Amino acid sequence: MATAVSTPADKNNEHEEAAPQVVKLDPALLVRDECNAREHDTEPDEKLIASVKELGVEEPISVRPRPDGTYGVFKGWRRAQAAQTANADAAQDGRPVRVVRAYVREELVGNDGWTRFLSLVENDHREGMSERDTLRAQELSLIDMSEVDRRKASKALGVGRNAAQQARAAQKLDDAALRRASAGGMDLEQIAQFAEVEDVPGAQEKAQIPLLPARVPYGVKDTARLLSELTTPLGRPLDESGHKGCPGHSARLDDDHQPLWYCADPAEYGHKARPRPKPEKTAEDEVRAAERARTVACNRAWKAAAGPRREFVTRLVRGSKALPEDAWRFALGMLLDLPSFYGKWAQRQEAEDVAQFLGVTLPETPFARVRLSELVTLSKARTAHVLFAHVAAAFERDMRDPQGWNDARMGVRFLWEDPTPQQAAYLLLLEKLGHEDKGTYRLSEVEEQAVAPHRPDAGSGA
Ligand SMILES: [Zn+2]
Repeated sequence: MATAVSTPADKNNEHEEAAPQVVKLDPALLVRDECNAREHDTEPDEKLIASVKELGVEEPISVRPRPDGTYGVFKGWRRAQAAQTANADAAQDGRPVRVVRAYVREELVGNDGWTRFLSLVENDHREGMSERDTLRAQELSLIDMSEVDRRKASKALGVGRNAAQQARAAQKLDDAALRRASAGGMDLEQIAQFAEVEDVPGAQEKAQIPLLPARVPYGVKDTARLLSELTTPLGRPLDESGHKGCPGHSARLDDDHQPLWYCADPAEYGHKARPRPKPEKTAEDEVRAAERARTVACNRAWKAAAGPRREFVTRLVRGSKALPEDAWRFALGMLLDLPSFYGKWAQRQEAEDVAQFLGVTLPETPFARVRLSELVTLSKARTAHVLFAHVAAAFERDMRDPQGWNDARMGVRFLWEDPTPQQAAYLLLLEKLGHEDKGTYRLSEVEEQAVAPHRPDAGSGA
């Protein structure tokens, strides 16, 4: 938990350390300041004592005066103790009794928070201070400060706004867990979260609960889902106790450091998403729904219109009367121009529609090619009828599916709103023939809608 101390730029800083004079003090007057951050492992080791016996205390220690005339050491207490030990043995070893140089920080009398902070910073820079002491000092010093000082100190320690609370939370960990967390590179916030999860009452394997990362790195999919959003495969709700056995059992902490239980990967462990209430329909949704409903209705009407239309074509081509001139001219025009739909239909070599129009029963031979020329009774008088049946069959095949392809716009077209010019011409022809046949055939509503833009008197947009 290394921290960096920023050098305050403010020259009027009351905590500026350049100001105090170095004073020589008798080590016998030195006691441990109650705000010294180091509470464990405070004894000087043999190496330090040996060094102080030889050289004295090289660097000044930091103290603040106490009412009883002694000085509280908040920086350098181990060195001060080493100096005391060295002096106690001085006479018998034939060494001089030494004084200790110290910064006497009068202004810190009564300012426990900042004293503890300075002690923490000092000790933090030296090896060996325990994690627990560091956390305790952080907590106590930050709590005991003015808001201005706290901001400054937090910045110096490299901790966030809630460092005091986090430090308190983190101290709940036992020494081993604390060392593990710190060695694992957790920062104060993460250690605090770790501690809170460990502290959840009733958690059997406290330390075993994996804490999900608060944030998932960029590019990594966050598969974790709250248990409240999940169910068992049979649809029963999942809660913390019911989910304990799952390998994905884990938690995140909310703002109050309470665990929110998650499954790290519900798909992997066979949970289902809890059904959500249907979202309110927006105006846009309603427009889209109305559009869909209209499409369904038009498609259905388009398919239904084929029945009466084919019936009328059947009457025309089987009737005893001569085929109307408009009809055979139309059919001949198609044969001469060979529009692409006609070519496609010819390619299919389907005999069914023509046979049906002409009243020819096809043999039930699914494998053999049917030759209509052998089945249809040919006569000079019926030539036009057969020809028209042929062309009408090609149209009906082309118009069977209400959804087609618009080559020009490279997109799907619905024939009930966007028929090809040939389809529109076919429908208009049938309309005319029906009218002339004493009104025995009329276009359906959906066909009317389709041909409307193609009527001669329609606007230039046709
Ligand atoms: Zn799970």
